[in-house]
Amino acid sequence: MTSPWRDAIAEHHVNLRAHGLRRERSIVSTVQGVESIINNRDLVNFSSNDYLGLAHNASLIQKSKQALAAYGVGSGASHLVCGHHALHHQLELELAGFVGAERALLFSSGYAANLAIAQAFCDKRDLLLMDKLNHASLIDSAKLSAATFKRFAHADLDHAAKILQKASFNRCLIASDGVFSMDGDIAPIEKLVALSKDNRGLLFIDDAHGFGVLGSCGQGTLNDSGFSPTGELLMMATLGKAFGGYGAFIAGDEIFIEHLIQTARSYIYTTALPPMLAASAIEALRIVRDGSRRSKLAQNIQHFKHAARELNIPIMPSSTAIQPILVGSNESASGLSNALYNHGYYVSAIRPPTVPKNTARLRVTLSSSHSCDQIDALLSCISEHAKMFDLKLNGSCNG
Ligand SMILES: *Cc1c(COP(=O)(O)O)cnc(C)c1O
Repeated sequence: MTSPWRDAIAEHHVNLRAHGLRRERSIVSTVQGVESIINNRDLVNFSSNDYLGLAHNASLIQKSKQALAAYGVGSGASHLVCGHHALHHQLELELAGFVGAERALLFSSGYAANLAIAQAFCDKRDLLLMDKLNHASLIDSAKLSAATFKRFAHADLDHAAKILQKASFNRCLIASDGVFSMDGDIAPIEKLVALSKDNRGLLFIDDAHGFGVLGSCGQGTLNDSGFSPTGELLMMATLGKAFGGYGAFIAGDEIFIEHLIQTARSYIYTTALPPMLAASAIEALRIVRDGSRRSKLAQNIQHFKHAARELNIPIMPSSTAIQPILVGSNESASGLSNALYNHGYYVSAIRPPTVPKNTARLRVTLSSSHSCDQIDALLSCISEHAKMFDLKLNGSCNG
C-alpha cells in the first residue's frame, strides 16, 4: 500500500543515507559523566555539555531529593496559572543577582526561551539581525515574528553594519550566541554592544555555553567581556549545560522581563519546571561560584590545546570547553567518530545542517572531570587515525 506520507518520508531517508546524514541516537545507561556506558560500552565521553561534571553531583542530587520529597514531582501548571513555586522565585532572584541583572525569568528550556525573543519584542516594522552561526532555536524564533530577518556573516560586524545601513526599519533586535556551539569561539561582545547602541537596538546574547564557564565567577560571556545584562542588553542561558540540570532563564532590566511575562507565548503556554530542578540549580550556582571546578576545566582546556598542537592536530581558535576538530566530509567525520568509539571514546561527529556543508567535524567537549591522561589518550588515538580518515594534520602536505 502506498501513501503520499510514507513515500515522501522514505525518499527523504534514502537521501539522508546517501549523504551520510542519517542520525542515530546512542543509549546511555549510566549517569551522564566522563566515564559512561553508552550503547553497552564503557566509554570516555567527550561529547557532553556537562562541563563542570554537575549532572550527577552528590549535593545537587541531595538538594533535588529534598525538594522532591517536600514538593513532589511536578509543578502542576504554568507559571501564570499556579505553577510558580517559591523555589522558582528564589532561583530567579539568585540568578539575577549573580549575572548583575535587575531580573531573571525562568523558562522550561533554552529552546523555549529563545523562541520568545522575536515574537515578544518585534513587530513587522522591525529588523531582526543575527549571526549566521546562531543556534537553531534563535533562527526558529525569527519565524514566529513578522519582523524582517537578516543574517550577517559569522562574527563579521562590518557586514552587520552594512545590512543595518541599507535596511529601513523601526527598531532592530540583534541576537548572537555568546559562545558558538559548534565552533567554540566567543562573540565580539564589545563590538556588538557598540553596533547595537549606534542603532538604538536591543542586543540579545544566547550564553548557553558561556554561563557557568566564563567570567570572573562563571557569570558568562558578557561578564567575561566586561558587561552585564542591563540597559538594552539581555542574556539567555540554559541550566542544562554547565549547570548540570535542566531549564533556562533570560536576564535583563525589569521592563523587558515583565514584558516577557505578559507576552512571551513560549513562557505563558507551558508547564513550569519541576521545583526540584530549581533546587538543583540553586545548588549548582553555589558550586559554580566556588570556582574550583571552573579552574580545573580551564586547566583541561589549556592541556588539550597544548597537547593537540604537539601532535599537529588541527584545532579551531577556541578558548572554551568546545574544541572542534575540523574534518571536512561527512563520511570522514563519521568514520573517525566510529573509530574512536571502537577505541573507547565517545566524540560525536557534527554534520550539516548543524554546521555548513563540507565542514563536518568532531566536536570535542571538555569537562572539569576529565583527567590529563584521558585527554592525551584521546588525542593520540585521533592522531593515529588521521590518515585513514583524511584528517589533515598541520604541516602535512595535502595529498
Ligand atoms: C543548547 C542550546 C540551546 C538550547 O538550550 P536547551 O536548554 O537545551 O533547550 C540554545 N542555544 C544554544 C547556543 C545552545 O547550545
